Amino acid sequence: MTMTTRHLLGPGPTNPYPEATAGLAAPLLGHLDPEFIRLMDEACAMLRDVWQTGNPRTLPLSATGSAWMEAAFVNTVDEGDVVVVAVNGLFGERMCEVARRYGAEVVRVDHEWGQPVDPERVAAAHPAPKVIAAVHAETSTGVRSDIAALGELKGDALLLVDAVTSIGGTELRADAWGVDIGYAGSQKCLGVPPGLAPFTITERAFARRVETPRSWYLDLGLLGGYVGGTAGGRRTYHHTAPTAMVLSLHGALRRILDEGLPAVWERHARAGERLQEGLQELGLELFAAPGHRLPQLTTVRVPEGVDSAAVRAELLERYDIEIGAGVGPHADTVWRIGLMGPNAGDDTVAMVLGALKDVLGR
Ligand SMILES: *Cc1c(COP(=O)(O)O)cnc(C)c1O
Repeated sequence: MTMTTRHLLGPGPTNPYPEATAGLAAPLLGHLDPEFIRLMDEACAMLRDVWQTGNPRTLPLSATGSAWMEAAFVNTVDEGDVVVVAVNGLFGERMCEVARRYGAEVVRVDHEWGQPVDPERVAAAHPAPKVIAAVHAETSTGVRSDIAALGELKGDALLLVDAVTSIGGTELRADAWGVDIGYAGSQKCLGVPPGLAPFTITERAFARRVETPRSWYLDLGLLGGYVGGTAGGRRTYHHTAPTAMVLSLHGALRRILDEGLPAVWERHARAGERLQEGLQELGLELFAAPGHRLPQLTTVRVPEGVDSAAVRAELLERYDIEIGAGVGPHADTVWRIGLMGPNAGDDTVAMVLGALKDVLGR
């Protein structure tokens, strides 16, 4: 997780996540307790708001973002189905590998890392794919891609979108943009511990799913009963819901919706802009393509002659600030600075810039 304050979930006066930690510290509820079921239904309703969707099949699944990347593919692709994957970073790469393992014929459309996905090139890559997949916010490179444009060009294909880093951070409109299958994660801009994956699927995509997916746990057909209230009330046992995590998510979603989604997006946008301006004022060079930079995850080049790991260690030890290393080919040459959820604010930006200025001696 790339966030900028170290004690993400620690107790004490500086805990920036009181709503999320309250759910973890509350007396445990049983997973069949009617009170828990009520809170789960509320969490699902709030997730629909955060995804900007009316999909009844919208729920927090008990696993990380990657597991639900896997769910997205195992439920939609059969042996030989064509899947076009837009690749502009690590998570697009991962999608290719997941789809390949479930027998898909993967048509990858590569982009230079640091660049956004080119919707026209992706749409032209195959005349009739079953699925077109793309990452909305590439956390490995700090780049945002235009999902609405892909939605316009998708034709009859199902549009599968990774929104792990965008949800609760930057504008995301699943229905308006034509997203058929979306998965996200709890631990990025939602500001909840890792371990839950908000998932949404349209009825159109659900109807076209694989009848018997090669995974029992991730079979969306079996999960209908788990969703319960959203699908007509009858709840059957599938797995034991992680109750404390659902309460934590509930608290965080409440906070986001109380603040208001547009206000949350705006707060991230402003914080990211200030950070990116400040880094350039320190003489540092941003990595992601201008005009496509994510506010919640800024990539910046490590200056010539500077030891990336040493700077990160010093930030952590002396300032309690955690920034990420780069990924893949850019592991040692790029830093990734997260401003996610409650961390997207002026104080954090000032703190990070001040600490970097000190450590780099600028
Ligand atoms: C973090 C992340 C994932 C993976 O989520 P995990 O919870 O680590 O499995 C997938 N896609 C993107 C864009 C991410 O940032």
